Amino acid sequence: MTYTVPNLKDFSAAAVDKAVAKLIAAVESEAKSVTSESEWKAFRDRWMARTNGLLTQVNNLWLKAAPKDAKREVGRRVNEVKKRVDEIIASASEQMQSAASTSRLSAEHIDITLPGIRRPLGAEHPVIKTMNEIASVFRNLGYSVEEGPEIETDYYNFEALNFPPNHPARDTQDTIFIANQESKPQRERLLLRTHTSPVQIRTMEKIKPPLRIVIPGKVHRNDPPDASHSPMFHQIEGLAVDTNITFGDLKGTLDHAMKALFGSSVKTHFRPSFFPFTEPSAEMMVSCFICGGSGQRGSEPCRPCKRTGWIEILGCGMVDPNVFEFVKDHGYDPRKVSGFAFGMGADRVALLKYGVDDIQLFFQGDVRFLRQFV
Ligand SMILES: [Zn+2]
Repeated sequence: MTYTVPNLKDFSAAAVDKAVAKLIAAVESEAKSVTSESEWKAFRDRWMARTNGLLTQVNNLWLKAAPKDAKREVGRRVNEVKKRVDEIIASASEQMQSAASTSRLSAEHIDITLPGIRRPLGAEHPVIKTMNEIASVFRNLGYSVEEGPEIETDYYNFEALNFPPNHPARDTQDTIFIANQESKPQRERLLLRTHTSPVQIRTMEKIKPPLRIVIPGKVHRNDPPDASHSPMFHQIEGLAVDTNITFGDLKGTLDHAMKALFGSSVKTHFRPSFFPFTEPSAEMMVSCFICGGSGQRGSEPCRPCKRTGWIEILGCGMVDPNVFEFVKDHGYDPRKVSGFAFGMGADRVALLKYGVDDIQLFFQGDVRFLRQFV
């Protein structure tokens, strides 16, 4: 029921006290129901409005109506009432504002204890990891890393590496050439490099001997993909040039490198081979680091070494003097310097190292496969 200010007939202290208590209870209960700013303003005006607010009525109906002898006491109580009503109205405003900001906060609430959005960390691809490991073995021997373009000219990819003009590697069956270059002289024709060896020539053109470099990179051949072939694969090769470099240096360096890569117990074995850019040339085998050279894994034959106990791992040889002829003007006089070169398939080393049996798995981008190598 809405409160109205009563007329006072009895101005005794007890009667005034009772009227005051009723009024205060009414203000307090109205204050509680205020929930918005407009409600609070209506509440304030109902009590405080100068012309007909309830406090003005209290002034008229209680104080002005009081008999002379009671006026002083009633005046004191009316002042107390005004002060108290003022306080209640002020605190109703504070409560209304804090309730509004609490509800705004809860609407904008963020739970800082919830887990964030996890971004998976990238990791090295097993082939890149293998190339880096090989490079670091040679870096420890004083070799530096060199890189070159994947689109090469016939000159750097074949001619300067002593490939004869009709070598089968120059055939489109083996090499991927850039189209529509028939009008260019052969040595200027562009192709996707078939090995990392052009970087040997490019580096000798810019750095004088002595030289020790490793060259990691992507190469391309016109091979249909299968479990052991991919039209795109990776090589890492090395070149050392100085005065008096011998085949003994080649064997010692590679033997050390294989032990660093595959374990100190592996043995190396060289057998004659042929490459256009090295003379003499050799293929190097390492004793199988999977079966320990026995050719058997328990009662099963060892597949990676085809039960021979040896794995063919790289090609190598002494740099053919004909190759130095192409960079003679850059300080590589074949009568003064000698050197050795070697190269291996990084993917093949990674296959052996991680026991993977299909090279295609490396290039399909399947995270479920790649995650195993993190
Ligand atoms: Zn084996």
